[in-house]
Amino acid sequence: MSGYDSGVCRSVKLAETEFLLDTTHPQRGSGPRIIPRSEHIVSRANVSGSALKVLYRLRNSGFDAYLVGGGVRDLLLGMHPKDFDIVTDAHPEQVRKLFGNSRLIGRRFRLAHVRFGREIIEVATFRGKGDGSDERERAHSGRILRDNVYGSIDEDIWRRDFTVNALYYNIADFSVVDYTTGLEDIRRKTLRMIGDPVTRYREDPVRMLRVARFAAKLGFEIAQDTAEPIAELGHHVRDVPPARLFEEVLKLFRSGHAVTSFRMLDDFGLLRHLFPATAALLEGNEGDTVRRFIERGLAGTDRRIAEDKPTTPAFLYAILLWPAVSRLAASLKDSGAREFEAMAEASTRVAAEQQRCTALPKRFSVPMKEMFALQRRFATRRGARAARVMQHRQFRAAYDFLLLRSRSGEVEAELANWWSEVQTLPPAEREQAFNVTKRRRGKRRRGGRRGGRRKPLSADA
Ligand code: ATP
Ligand code: MG
Repeated sequence: MSGYDSGVCRSVKLAETEFLLDTTHPQRGSGPRIIPRSEHIVSRANVSGSALKVLYRLRNSGFDAYLVGGGVRDLLLGMHPKDFDIVTDAHPEQVRKLFGNSRLIGRRFRLAHVRFGREIIEVATFRGKGDGSDERERAHSGRILRDNVYGSIDEDIWRRDFTVNALYYNIADFSVVDYTTGLEDIRRKTLRMIGDPVTRYREDPVRMLRVARFAAKLGFEIAQDTAEPIAELGHHVRDVPPARLFEEVLKLFRSGHAVTSFRMLDDFGLLRHLFPATAALLEGNEGDTVRRFIERGLAGTDRRIAEDKPTTPAFLYAILLWPAVSRLAASLKDSGAREFEAMAEASTRVAAEQQRCTALPKRFSVPMKEMFALQRRFATRRGARAARVMQHRQFRAAYDFLLLRSRSGEVEAELANWWSEVQTLPPAEREQAFNVTKRRRGKRRRGGRRGGRRKPLSADA
């Protein structure tokens, strides 16, 4: 335990294993606490083989190499890490040369991705304090636009976000290195920002979203000085490029803790900077209904993640934006728009507004709009056109969305049940259910409804 002053030592049970814990809080400048392999539970048996390969190759090439971040944190908590992040003193270009299967990414924060099949191991270089060169670029607000100043582990530590994310597992001797109060905070289940939270949030407002995400995922308390400034600084989230916020939204809502993340964001007043239209509805007199709908939808997302089923951002955004879209569509209809036009117009407007905040790539916004358009079409159960709904590429997602609406009391259960049942019927009976006969279909084709061949099914038709 080099460089670490006495303090009161006690033994603490952490994820089934005991190790010594010091209760003094080391300040910046004091040395790290080094916990030898025999006193912690981070085992190579629980680290992915790919991450180990990267660690060993770096080490064998003469570089320092550590596992850091969520990997170490989750292993200490007895959880399965989602991914493994590595940090080294090798510069990105050196990492690139060492690994044929790697590429450099990120302008703001340059790092290497080493690919092993579907698994990607992220390898970052120690960030340093900097010497005033232009490798660290700041906006007037203090936001760091680029951070490519390299340094050593004892500089890197202070650039990390939370103490529990700043524990390093050293591949050289399998020890865990703790410069802050990381281990103590893991034991206390506390999320604590390293350094002055106000400065750290100004440097990178996404850290406020990360507070909500990790508190939800880990079920940790948030240290008071970490939580307090968020109410005042939350609006800085709007300065973050929408594409980065889109990625953060996915991490928040596909973590398996979407409902809790949603509540956290709302409690912290951050939701209004990510989903302004939705947040406005939550504050209005329909707030409870909107909240129930969204939470029911997000609970479904959490269930799917728990069952290892895929989730699509299109469905996620549909849950979060439907309350705004359906209400706008209703008011456009009241003003005289035809039903399908009102829905198409409302979807387009709400999605466009949303894109200014968090981005929503077309490959997700288009299916989302199609899901919305199909909601209206579910109301019609008779005829060839109704039958064709089942061939639509968004039918499955739209049907799941119909179920969500039905369970939320927005549509009759009887309608949702009918669509559930019709899917179980053999083709001939299905035609009967839709009241489609060969003769009528033929007639329609010849007659050309509204004079001519119909275009292929389009979402807002
Ligand atoms: P997850 O389980 O979601 O992967 P994680 O803690 O590993 O959690 P990552 O986003 O993978 O989170 O980041 C890896 C590590 O990089 C973090 O643990 C933290 O130390 C550091 N880090 C990531 N984003 C930031 C940030 N915005 N500011 C400061 N440090 C960060
Ligand atoms: Mg990670």
